Amino acid sequence: MKTLLEQLTRIVGDTGVLSETQELAPFVNDARGRYTGNALCVVRPRSVEEVAAVVACCMEQSVPIQPQGGNTSLCGGSVPLAGERGVILSLSRMRRIREIDAANNSMTVEAGCVLADVQRAAVDAGRFYPVSLGAEGSCQIGGNIATNAGGTGVLRYGNTRENVLGLEVVLPNATVWDGLRALRKNNTGFDLKHLFIGSEGLLGIITAATLKLHPLNAHHIAAWLAPASIDAAVEVLALFQSSLGSQLTAFEAMNAAQLQKVLQHFPETRSPLDAGNPWHILAELGATSDEAGLRDSLENLLQTAISSGLLVDAAVASSEAQRAAMWTIRHSVTEAIGKAGRGIAHDIAVPVSKIPEFLRRVSPALEQRFPGIQIIIVGHLGDGNLHFVPLFTHDAWNAFSDQQAVVDEVHRTTYGVATELGGTFSAEHGIGQYLVAEMRQYKSEVELSLMRSVKQALDPRGLFNPAKVIPQ
Ligand SMILES: Cc1cc2nc3c(=O)[nH]c(=O)nc-3n(C[C@H](O)[C@H](O)[C@H](O)COP(=O)(O)OP(=O)(O)OC[C@H]3O[C@@H](n4cnc5c(N)ncnc54)[C@H](O)[C@@H]3O)c2cc1C
Repeated sequence: MKTLLEQLTRIVGDTGVLSETQELAPFVNDARGRYTGNALCVVRPRSVEEVAAVVACCMEQSVPIQPQGGNTSLCGGSVPLAGERGVILSLSRMRRIREIDAANNSMTVEAGCVLADVQRAAVDAGRFYPVSLGAEGSCQIGGNIATNAGGTGVLRYGNTRENVLGLEVVLPNATVWDGLRALRKNNTGFDLKHLFIGSEGLLGIITAATLKLHPLNAHHIAAWLAPASIDAAVEVLALFQSSLGSQLTAFEAMNAAQLQKVLQHFPETRSPLDAGNPWHILAELGATSDEAGLRDSLENLLQTAISSGLLVDAAVASSEAQRAAMWTIRHSVTEAIGKAGRGIAHDIAVPVSKIPEFLRRVSPALEQRFPGIQIIIVGHLGDGNLHFVPLFTHDAWNAFSDQQAVVDEVHRTTYGVATELGGTFSAEHGIGQYLVAEMRQYKSEVELSLMRSVKQALDPRGLFNPAKVIPQ
């Protein structure tokens, strides 16, 4: 152990290795406060060469490596297992923006760059990097890529996968794959970057990425909508999409119970419309020019939707401050749920057209089975992705003698219906350690065996992020 620490210190310098218990705490505890792992140390390299040397050193001594970005994973993917004796490899000291090529609409950044810093750098260059999510002030590009993060811009710009042009990766055999190409077209064999996007640290350490940039929308208009029902919300989405096309950049939904939790736990927030409406939509439009035209199109659409009974009310933000206030509500949901009680989180997706049926089948079944449970729903409705969170009060939760059995039953009901409707049990948060059992249950043996073959080919000793994602 002493030798390993000494060797790692020689590679990354004195301040690059953390091994005291209090220093390890922020790295071994997960964002939701559900998982605590163990590690010999945290090692923080400053360059791709140092990452490769750390990997070589750990592999030589058969020490597991836990890659870690901003540690905002919602499924325990970024912390080691309890009892593990490995090394956490944190990318937090690799924060350089290596290049911005505005004419090519691309930028190359190191994996430890915080997402919000990348967004700002793009804006400073007159461009737009569209991946946006509640944790953007602390999650890192490497983590976004390793989880193929979604967020609020997917409707218009796609997931992280659609916004990555090239990668640099340190493989488990300590070689460096330099795939930092800034090309939109490159059909030269397998497109290897896609192997690492969404691989959750199982196949290599992403050290840098070339990202796709987009034109910067000079004008944004946000509107808060109250649809008559969830069916009406789906119809309004179709109406907006067919009329606005790519000018519709976000279509986020929450139910009344979710909004109430935000208003209750963040007293500075105000609901733009009557909070008692059953559903709330935050829609955003963006355009590079012609703000007046954009506003007219939106107002005409709202008139149509209100007169046809799809919307009961709507409010259009009339200032940047009002728009920001609407987004503050949206970005406060995860924290509000955490404060409100013990939620059982699900990150499901079904085809958008099936969302009403999903809710009609799952919500009443759970309400009947667990009287007093509250169903909290927030999500990226435009992508068919809901964060569906049955919530117990702390007292109700503590009264269960077998809490795991409750979690398992709620999961079975929710994922069972989602998969029957052609959906998934994990839309954007990944698998981590939270959903390994569901992989076994819902993925086919063919898919699992392909995943095991890929893992075996790259990491035959299973030392990269062990025991996550793929059931053994
Ligand atoms: C408030 C809040 C809101 C969120 N909203 C969303 C949302 O809307 N959409 C969404 O998709 N997610 C969301 N998340 C989840 C989380 O923020 C994302 O999964 C994010 O992409 C993780 O980035 P990170 O840097 O924190 O990675 P970490 O949490 O550190 O790691 C996540 C996984 O990636 C691996 N990893 C990290 N860095 C690297 C690397 N350089 N190379 C190889 N593997 C690596 C880790 O081993 C782990 O398996 C949210 C989280 C919070 C707390």
